[in-house]
Amino acid sequence: MSGAPLLQMALRVEQDIFVVRQRGREVAAAVGLEHQDQVRIATALSEVARDLLRGVGGADVFFVVVDSADGRRHLRVDLTPVAPLPGGRYEPESGAVARLVDTLGVVTDEGATVVRMSRRVPLAAEALSPERLAQLRAQLGQSAPGTAEEELATQNLQLIAALDEVRSQRDELARLNEELEQTNRGVLALYHQLTDELEETNRGVVALYAELDEKSAQLRTASESKTRFLANVSHELRAPVTAIIGLARLLADSASDPLTAEQERQVGLIRSSASDLLTLVNELLDLAKAESGRIEPNWAEVDLRAVFGQLRGTLRALRIGTEVELVVEEPPTPATVRTDEVLLAQVLRNLLHNGLKFTTAGEVRLRARRQDAGWELLVSDTGPGIPTEFQDRVFEEFYQVPGPSRVGGTGLGLPYARRLVNLLGGTLRLTSEPGRGSTFTVSLLADGT
Ligand code: ADP
Repeated sequence: MSGAPLLQMALRVEQDIFVVRQRGREVAAAVGLEHQDQVRIATALSEVARDLLRGVGGADVFFVVVDSADGRRHLRVDLTPVAPLPGGRYEPESGAVARLVDTLGVVTDEGATVVRMSRRVPLAAEALSPERLAQLRAQLGQSAPGTAEEELATQNLQLIAALDEVRSQRDELARLNEELEQTNRGVLALYHQLTDELEETNRGVVALYAELDEKSAQLRTASESKTRFLANVSHELRAPVTAIIGLARLLADSASDPLTAEQERQVGLIRSSASDLLTLVNELLDLAKAESGRIEPNWAEVDLRAVFGQLRGTLRALRIGTEVELVVEEPPTPATVRTDEVLLAQVLRNLLHNGLKFTTAGEVRLRARRQDAGWELLVSDTGPGIPTEFQDRVFEEFYQVPGPSRVGGTGLGLPYARRLVNLLGGTLRLTSEPGRGSTFTVSLLADGT
């Protein structure tokens, strides 16, 4: 909407600047601009009026209310210069003037060059209906402009108010700055504290790691010494123990001098103790070898059916006359796996032996099943089972589950079996339910890696 001007006036002499300023404020108030905005637009207007009066000798001033395309309402002031602007352009003397209004610039309106400024009116459209605008037009037309002195006094008052405002804003700014500085100091202190704490923690962690490294080096050395000791001792023990067994056998031989019944019993005791000792020594030697990494698997494509068949044969011979059934299932074909046949057979024999040793009724079963990229070989029994709290410990050296089901042995079989399976790139796991039985699972990758 761009109706008839609310007010129009001529700017020709110095005094008109005051009048333009005063009327500008009146119009601004009439259309609902706030006090501060009234002062702003009046000030901008008087600055532009002064420039035009001095530059081109005056202008005609029109106050109009317009609606822009986005539905917003503006108070617009057009100043049509009485003579052409130099170069057709206008730059306010003071650059700050443009900031007092929303727009300020030179436009061409119906062939005429006009200096135009505008400020948004916050009022709702209804508040400035065409009737109301007509009313305002009539009022403004009637009211007589005041004198230059009056306008000067008003201007002074406005200046004082503006200065007050500036001062209170400056105070507020100073207060905010002070607050900001305090906050900054606080943040900085906190930051330093955190950095210090972090550094200290880091130092602690570094020290801890160093200690850990040292401890694990010590542990490695200790473990190596233990392995070396076990290997040496068991190796050294093997010859004398074998000699004791041989000698005891000689003593008990029917070709030797006859022994009394008591002597015979004692020689028998010597022989069986020496045999136990030899088993222990051999197992220790095996374990020490596996631990020191001196066992080098002999990798080959191994047919599980052959391994199973061989175990079936050798173990069946041991089982004659017992209650427990040994079942070796036929593996599903094709059943090849890349591994060391001797070591794998040793592990399975060991597990089957355990099953047969601890199971008094039911069965011991060996079976194979494909699992993702490999094989699972399961040795299960219907024996006493192993309580959960001991299921990890049975893989420790010399550990035997306490209780009535102890049947002799050294406690070295499972740790050795696990070492061998690891050497073959696999894992050995145990699941067991006391009273129902145990299952040892050897998992191997088909290609051995
Ligand atoms: P060993 O059989 O010579 O005692 P192992 O290392 O082979 O040594 O086994 C450690 C212990 O684990 C055994 O003493 C036994 O208590 C328990 N164990 C092993 N296999 C079984 C099984 N199949 N059923 C019940 N307990 C078992």
